[in-house]
Amino acid sequence: MNQGCLKAVAIALMLLGVLLALVGLVFLLAPGRAVKGIILLGIGGALIGFAASRLRVMAQLSPAGVEQQLTAMATGANGELTVTSAAGVTHLDEALIRAALDRLMQQGMVKLEHREGVEYYLFPGLHETKMVKKCPYCGNEYPVSQHLRTCPSCGGNIEVRPE
Ligand SMILES: [Zn+2]
Repeated sequence: MNQGCLKAVAIALMLLGVLLALVGLVFLLAPGRAVKGIILLGIGGALIGFAASRLRVMAQLSPAGVEQQLTAMATGANGELTVTSAAGVTHLDEALIRAALDRLMQQGMVKLEHREGVEYYLFPGLHETKMVKKCPYCGNEYPVSQHLRTCPSCGGNIEVRPE
């Protein structure tokens, strides 16, 4: 069965669950049928819960779901990740992760960079550029938090630039 078919089955199960729960509710309110009603409500509730959990898993495994999880992970990791780190965090199959990253690369959302034999996937939109205060004359660097206009060591005008 393909994903679309599985989704249809899950939705059908959910509707069946709702139907059983409704019938159960009617029985519960009818005199003398409370036990039947409770049983039907229980079965209906279980079906709804099962179908909902299947639908949630399917949404997470869908192409858009995988891309969303990777983007969320990269947001917390300064806009970069490796397939291995992504697999560790999301518990998704590496092939699914690679496929999603390939799609994001084609859209220009992600860039591949090799560092010491490791493939890093960079999300430029999520990367925070760290700024530093730097003196162009002597090369000294100072934290941006420090309120300096001129360099304490040589008196040159300090520039703020990306690290
Ligand atoms: Zn200086």
